[in-house]
Amino acid sequence: MNENLLLTAKALNENGFETEVFENSKTAAENIIKNVGLKKTLGFGGSMSVDALNLKEKLSAAGNEIIKPGPGISKDEKIKLWLKAQNADFYFASPQAITSKGEMIFLDANGNRGAAVIYGPKKIILIAGYNKLVETLDDGLWRARNIAAIKNNIRLKKDNPCVPAGKCQDCSSENRICNVTTILSKKPWMSNYKVVLVNEELGY
Ligand code: SF4
Repeated sequence: MNENLLLTAKALNENGFETEVFENSKTAAENIIKNVGLKKTLGFGGSMSVDALNLKEKLSAAGNEIIKPGPGISKDEKIKLWLKAQNADFYFASPQAITSKGEMIFLDANGNRGAAVIYGPKKIILIAGYNKLVETLDDGLWRARNIAAIKNNIRLKKDNPCVPAGKCQDCSSENRICNVTTILSKKPWMSNYKVVLVNEELGY
């Protein structure tokens, strides 16, 4: 087991975020599916780590309702679904970075995910592989812009200047995907979390 994962889990637990470490994504997914149960409403923030565990498919097959805007829907419909997801039984997301002090960083274009990981859903499940671990907040903010955002720009086919440059240019592009930074320092009083750390490289 990656020693950093165990130390980060300890720091997250000390910050009030219930955290468990799993040897691989298969055992992590099995644990999540067992804990979610049946007939729940499930919101999802955009996350390649969550997708890597095939949770939407498995939880939908188990009879849960997946709340996630599909491509091509109107802005009004999208906002309605984001608000519904914020009131779901469970909300799934992945931070772009977790520091050694157990702080979690989320960087978003719109902030619907940032809002949902602060409060609203009955339980917030945050999933991360060892590739998301960093030492300090500055390292995490650097990682969010210079690793995660660049890969997401490529995946989303956004022609932002970080893609050709290979590093963040702090652009003012209308397609900029780095508009909202959310940092969970310690557990907000009214919210419930489960952080799932996986001994694999997951997402960006
Ligand atoms: S150049 Fe713009 S879109 Fe790319 S990482 Fe920097 S702020 Fe984000």
